[in-house]
Amino acid sequence: MVYINVAVCLSVLLLMIGLSVGLSVNTFKGRDVLNSVPLIDGHNDLPENLYEKLSNNLSGFHFEDDLSNDDAWGRTACPVCHTDLHRLIAGKVGGQFWVAYTGCESQYKDAVQRTLRQIDVIKRLIDRYPTNLQLVTVAADIETTWRNGRIASMIGIEGGQSLESSLAVLRLYYELGVRYMTLTHTCNTPWADASSVNDGSVYNLTEFGKKIVLEMNRIGMMVDLAHVSHNVMRDVLAVTRAPIIFSHSSAFSICQNYRNVPDDVLHSVKENKGIVMVNFYSGFVNCNSSRNATLQDVVDHINYIRNLIGVDYVGIGADYDGVNSLPVGLEDVSKYPDLFDRLYDSREGEPTWTKEDLEKLAGRNFIRVFQMVETASIKIIEDR
Ligand SMILES: [Zn+2]
Repeated sequence: MVYINVAVCLSVLLLMIGLSVGLSVNTFKGRDVLNSVPLIDGHNDLPENLYEKLSNNLSGFHFEDDLSNDDAWGRTACPVCHTDLHRLIAGKVGGQFWVAYTGCESQYKDAVQRTLRQIDVIKRLIDRYPTNLQLVTVAADIETTWRNGRIASMIGIEGGQSLESSLAVLRLYYELGVRYMTLTHTCNTPWADASSVNDGSVYNLTEFGKKIVLEMNRIGMMVDLAHVSHNVMRDVLAVTRAPIIFSHSSAFSICQNYRNVPDDVLHSVKENKGIVMVNFYSGFVNCNSSRNATLQDVVDHINYIRNLIGVDYVGIGADYDGVNSLPVGLEDVSKYPDLFDRLYDSREGEPTWTKEDLEKLAGRNFIRVFQMVETASIKIIEDR
């Protein structure tokens, strides 16, 4: 009888262990990695909307509210508005590059002043929400800031027109906390061509353009190749002494828009140990205008880049607040977890995503690139 009782107890115990193991395996979802690593998005244009809609006056701006149905900021009133604090938290965003952008119309005019105003509004937004946002300027602070419950808020500049061809201005932007600069927006600068020239090769990257890249390497500012022409991507990858980023670009082989990254450049990004942070914009992820873009299109771009160059060189740069059309299923900043769930539930023909792989996509790859850029800067300074 004793033996039978022991046997029964043992089998119940084994059943319970089995069930709990089974349960923990079955209940894991892709989104759960966003509890173990900060989700870092490379590009959000909210500051541009603050300029357009409020002239950067934040006094009546309720960033803490769910603005999805707001009269001014909701999805009906504003097709380019996708961001508020409420939805960033729902979307488990842990690190965000806020973009200081000034349009090409300001080139040769007031581009420096406009850029400074955008850096200022980013800092004022961060200051207004000290329990939720914190300015971060070094890679090591991203994870600690996120562990303390705040979104690591970083500043990027979109478009080399913001420099007015001055290295002094570049260095002072760094002093103000800017950690990447996209070399062009949709217009050429005097020293680099934009993707819109489609490589009729106007100037590519000029000698002065190379100087700018090397100065960015020296001071530790990331070089962002989103928006540049394909030849400028190649030129920069040939001269840079630090890893580069694409803060918001997708794969050209899947959707032939020149904003996307061609295969040969993807291979160079792997050699360079850089990162392509995938853009969600409908027009970049789906080139078939007879149907709507969906979350699956973004999955396809991420998987394409992963299959071609590996899981270490891909990240997320959704372009929220900078575009007027987003895939079904990724409509605003609250939706990132759905993407991670979907990648984890891979379908036939797709790569299998482990927890570690998803952590790399979410933030580890970007943090590694940022650290390598910092290390390269120290080395360049020491070598002099
Ligand atoms: Zn852009």
